[in-house]
Amino acid sequence: MSSNLELYSEIVGWEVIDQLHQLSSLLKNIRVVHVNSTREGGGVAEILHKLVPLKKELGLDVSWEVIDGNSDFFKATKGFHNALQGHKLEIPDTLLKAYEKTNEQNAEKLRSKLMDADIVFIHDPQPAPLMNLFPDRKGKWIWRCHIDASRPNRIVWRYLRDFIKGYDASIFSLAAFAQPLPHPEYLIPPSIDPLSEKNIELEDSEVISTVSGLGIDTDRPFMLQVSRFDSFKDPIGVIKAYRLTKRFAPTIQLVLAGGEAADDPESQAVLEGVRTAANNDKDIHILLLPADAHRVINALQRAAYIVLQKSIREGFGLTVTEAMWKGKPVIGGDTGGIRIQVVNHHTGFLVKSPEGVALRARYLLFHDEKRLEMGRKAKAFVKDNFLLTRHLREYLTIMVSLIHGEDERIELG
Ligand code: UDP
Repeated sequence: MSSNLELYSEIVGWEVIDQLHQLSSLLKNIRVVHVNSTREGGGVAEILHKLVPLKKELGLDVSWEVIDGNSDFFKATKGFHNALQGHKLEIPDTLLKAYEKTNEQNAEKLRSKLMDADIVFIHDPQPAPLMNLFPDRKGKWIWRCHIDASRPNRIVWRYLRDFIKGYDASIFSLAAFAQPLPHPEYLIPPSIDPLSEKNIELEDSEVISTVSGLGIDTDRPFMLQVSRFDSFKDPIGVIKAYRLTKRFAPTIQLVLAGGEAADDPESQAVLEGVRTAANNDKDIHILLLPADAHRVINALQRAAYIVLQKSIREGFGLTVTEAMWKGKPVIGGDTGGIRIQVVNHHTGFLVKSPEGVALRARYLLFHDEKRLEMGRKAKAFVKDNFLLTRHLREYLTIMVSLIHGEDERIELG
């Protein structure tokens, strides 16, 4: 038994680890390649950093490739992201050309890796055209969509669908996001790694010194949202909610912690809007954290009195899972993946407006026992549903099914 997996067994039990070994025994030495567009920033990179080493530990030959692109490419793909999440917008032809050209260049660069791979996972729209550029590919190609595509802009979806329909399978995070496609579609929600720097237990002394080192007053409660500066995360709505909450909790502070994802050309403008809305309020802490500030985020999530994720669209919301794992009931936007994590009134609250956030924040601030009880339920819910080992088992199952089809049936012991 390999050492990392042994550590997971202490959290999830031996049975779960045994199942991973049984599944991976059918996949020994197969070559798997994951492709996305950034190594740091955002949920996809966060997951791949954890999933890839574990697959290796289970004996698969796995690599993770990142495509390069210029600013027009990332403008196009940010446009796709916004359009798939429902924005009405047109993407100019020049940007579409840059998107296709960039994929052609990356196809050349990745040819030797992708040509012979047994399984290729293509994450999100950025590298989606790669598959058509490998007409003589050997393996199975899977398109993995991490976005809330429940109500996509139809014109943009039709354009992207031409690149996606030829895949052997696709994976969406929830049923509501799945789109009609002529191949098998699977549902796999994302997960967090309980042993990562972001999620491991921390001593109280470290939590307090980290948070006070950021200029936050540790003698007063704070509300926290950890997110990229993206309008779908509604940071301005969070500031409104904080102002409403401050009317009945005058000592409350707000922490907005974010960084910049390498593939997001709009974050600077959103950040400026946030600074304007904060209007030099000394109790609003806007933190620009480096991409590797995992332990800092861990400490913030542990120290926060109330954790928010007030998104108006959300593919999943790993920040919700992370906070729940730390025993925090999350007040989250009633949308996308937040809905499958926050069981309203049990593991947190679902809200639709800043007023809704303030109402629920007041409840949590004045009902400490209830807050702790909901936090315990939140942690148990994550343990049962959203840890990396469940995620890994589902990926392995899909790989077994695509490679072996119906020839090999495995009954997990
Ligand atoms: N994150 C981070 N630094 C930041 C902002 C976010 O490390 O400044 C992490 C966060 O902890 C989470 C991931 O990035 O693990 C964001 O994933 P999520 O699904 O919440 O949102 P996405 O950015 O993928 O839309």
